[in-house]
Amino acid sequence: MTDTLIKVDLNQAATDNEQVHNRWHPDIPMACWVNPGDDFILETYDWTGGAIKNDDDASDVRDVDLSTVHYLSGPVGVKGAQPGDLLIVELLDIGAKQDMLWGFNGFFSKNNGGGFLTDHFPSAQKSIWDFEGMFTKSRHIPGVRFAGLIHPGLIGCLPDHKMLAEWNKREQALIDTNPTRVPPLANPPFASTAHMGKMKGEARDLAAATGARTVPPREHGGNCDIKDLSRGSKIFFPVYVDGAGLSVGDLHFSQGDGEITFCGAIEMAGWVHMKVELIKGGMAKYGIKNPIFKPSPIVPTYNNYLIFEGISVDDDGKQHYLDVNLAYKQACLNAINYLTKFGYSPAQGYSLLGSAPVQGHISGVVDIPNACATLWLPTDIFEFDINPSASGPTKFLDGSIDLPIAYDK
Ligand code: ZN
Repeated sequence: MTDTLIKVDLNQAATDNEQVHNRWHPDIPMACWVNPGDDFILETYDWTGGAIKNDDDASDVRDVDLSTVHYLSGPVGVKGAQPGDLLIVELLDIGAKQDMLWGFNGFFSKNNGGGFLTDHFPSAQKSIWDFEGMFTKSRHIPGVRFAGLIHPGLIGCLPDHKMLAEWNKREQALIDTNPTRVPPLANPPFASTAHMGKMKGEARDLAAATGARTVPPREHGGNCDIKDLSRGSKIFFPVYVDGAGLSVGDLHFSQGDGEITFCGAIEMAGWVHMKVELIKGGMAKYGIKNPIFKPSPIVPTYNNYLIFEGISVDDDGKQHYLDVNLAYKQACLNAINYLTKFGYSPAQGYSLLGSAPVQGHISGVVDIPNACATLWLPTDIFEFDINPSASGPTKFLDGSIDLPIAYDK
């Protein structure tokens, strides 16, 4: 039987679990140790540590304390791993916790986190997704059902002291360009809600003061939110500290490219069965700065798409120069507007794009002045025909069901 090296009890506060942490810092003690060649299981909380409930009230999304996330299981020490090595992590299997066979998607209030389309969706909303084996559906978004492309949103190794200092320096410099922006440009260290695993007392306080927040992806991987990093894939991580210190969390049952809703994909608590190996000196041998990976041999097949184009012209008609972010926003808004013609609310459309296996592509970045991005909406996830035709769209929904909303207090 494969050993479960980290267990989480969903009835216990994540902050009481010493094999869990919510900051990146080289001094966080290893939660457990393994040998190269070992396979083992790590259980994880959902990224918020259980803050979001399976109900029809979005006030939990509105009120969530984002300084507490993400709750990660680890760090796992790998014997013999040294700075400059590559740590190979094979994701043998991933699943939901048996006592939480559901997940959540939502978008934060603009005043507490926001999201990709926060100017269009400024209030907190959520949808709940039930798991039926490998499939999922939501009582808040009728008419769709799809197979999960299960993956960790967040996985990576501990930084060393030099790298951590560099992260904090460059992110603070960005914050300083507009320190009062809502939502903020980045999140600086915040000691009071830092959970540093087994660290206690003065050592904990010292490390918590500079521990990097877990929100952005960085050189070590981290919160990359790549939907294709699914079970069956093999990742090659740069190693910066002795033992590597691998941590994982923020499991997603499914996600659209970009994780545009930010709270987040279909977020779940679960377990990861993984196997580790080392390539000694692999960073220099292969010129690796950021992780690389091989995708899974098994993915849900959705080959029929309706593809929405977007260009870098904003809502007011202003021309922007090759702005891929803006072009993808416009592609998403075009898809949401199309979905409303079948009876979905804009919020249902937005949530669906964050949850379903939609693809996002950077299609053109040289045709001045417009970048072109495309949003690929799989048509086979719908229980009705979503394709355009001469007879026009048939309304599948009558507006009686929508996402719960919680306005700012
Ligand atoms: Zn997530």
